[in-house]
Amino acid sequence: MSSAHIANTPFDDPGADFILRTSDGVDFRVFRAVLSLASPVFKDMLSLPQPTLPSTPETPVVTISENSAVLEPLLLFFYPAVPPTIESLEDVRIMLLTATKYDFEAAIQEVSTQLVSPRFLETNPIGVYCVACHCGLEAEAKAAALQALNIPSLGRPVVEVDELALINIPTYHRLLRYHFKCGEVAAGVSNKDNWSLVGMAVCRLPFCDCADVIDDEGVPSRLLPIFDVLPNIADELRRRPSPATAAQSVHLKDAVEKLRGCNTCSREIENGTTLRELVDGIGSLVRDEVEKVPLEFKD
Ligand SMILES: [Zn+2]
Repeated sequence: MSSAHIANTPFDDPGADFILRTSDGVDFRVFRAVLSLASPVFKDMLSLPQPTLPSTPETPVVTISENSAVLEPLLLFFYPAVPPTIESLEDVRIMLLTATKYDFEAAIQEVSTQLVSPRFLETNPIGVYCVACHCGLEAEAKAAALQALNIPSLGRPVVEVDELALINIPTYHRLLRYHFKCGEVAAGVSNKDNWSLVGMAVCRLPFCDCADVIDDEGVPSRLLPIFDVLPNIADELRRRPSPATAAQSVHLKDAVEKLRGCNTCSREIENGTTLRELVDGIGSLVRDEVEKVPLEFKD
C-alpha cells in the first residue's frame, strides 16, 4: 500500500485501532467502537478481516471512495467536538448521500437540520427543495416549499438555481403546483364572506364608540374601507401566499388610514397598532390555510 498523509486532529491518534484511507490518500485513524456505533455498514465491515500497513501491522486499513473533505466533517459528528458548519448546498448534498451510503443516522439528522437552516432556506429555498427531493427528505422538502411561498408568482425564470439540475420536471412541477394551490387558499382568506376574517378584523380594530355605527346591511361602517380592499389583498396573496404578504400591502395600509375620521381610532393608527394587529391577524389566517395544503412528494 502506498504512503498516505495523516488526517488532522482528532483523527491522528496513534492509539486508534483502525484506519480509513480516503480517495485522496489521507489516513483517518479512528476507533472501531465509535465507527461501529455510528454506522451499521462499518460495523459489518469491521467484523471482516482487513489488510494492515507494514509500519503498523496491528492496525487494519480500509480504503473508501470518498475524499477527505467529505469524510472529515462526517466523522466529526461522532466526536466530542463542535459540529462542523457545512458551507454550501453542494457539500450538504454530498454529505447526505455519503451518510446515507454508510447509514450514519446521526449524521443524516444533523446534515438535514443544516439543510433547512436559515442560511440556506432564506437565501435559496428552491435549491433546498431540490437537494431535499434528490436525497429523499420529505419534511425538508416541505419546509423549503413553504419558504418558497415568499417568492411572488413562483415559476417565472427570474432567478438562476443551479440545484434544479438535480431534479426532474415532475418534481419541479409539484413545487409550482403547491405554490399555486397555496395561492388559491390564501386568496380565499381575503374575502368579506369569510367570517374568520371579519371576526378577526372586528376584534383587532381599536375598542372605540365608532364601532357602533352600523350600515344598512348590519356591517360596522368602519369595516367598509377594509372590505373595499379585500379583492386587492386577495390578488397579492394569490401571487405570494405568504403570511408576510399583508405586512407589505399598500392597500391595507390605505384602508387603515381611512379610519382617521375618528379621533380615538386615529391615535391607534398614529402609533401603528391597528395596522400591525390586522397584518398579524391576516398573516395568522393565511398560515392556517396554507399549512393544510399538502406537498406531493415522491421519494
Ligand atoms: Zn373609532
